[in-house]
Amino acid sequence: MAYVITETCTKDELCVDACPVDCIHPKKDEAGFTEAAHLYVEPDDCIDCGACVPVCPSNAVYPLDELPAELAHFAADNAAHYGKN
Ligand code: SF4
Ligand code: SF4
Repeated sequence: MAYVITETCTKDELCVDACPVDCIHPKKDEAGFTEAAHLYVEPDDCIDCGACVPVCPSNAVYPLDELPAELAHFAADNAAHYGKN
């Protein structure tokens, strides 16, 4: 299980600062940041700590098992960013 970032993300990186395992990308200094629609959680590296949820001002982050049905495609969307699915 992993956490998933969805469409309301504003790329302010508050979750990046909160994540203990650095599994949220792209960061401002990384390739693809400007083009990215939102940030993405690396599903294999995420340790399910939940630290990214309360710091997100736009409620963009969900645990996979609480992802609303209409946002379900964002799980694959996050994984695909890392070449996984
Ligand atoms: S804290 Fe929320 S809005 Fe900010 S980058 Fe993370 S997911 Fe996006
Ligand atoms: S749940 Fe924890 S490890 Fe996973 S993306 Fe959020 S802060 Fe990072």
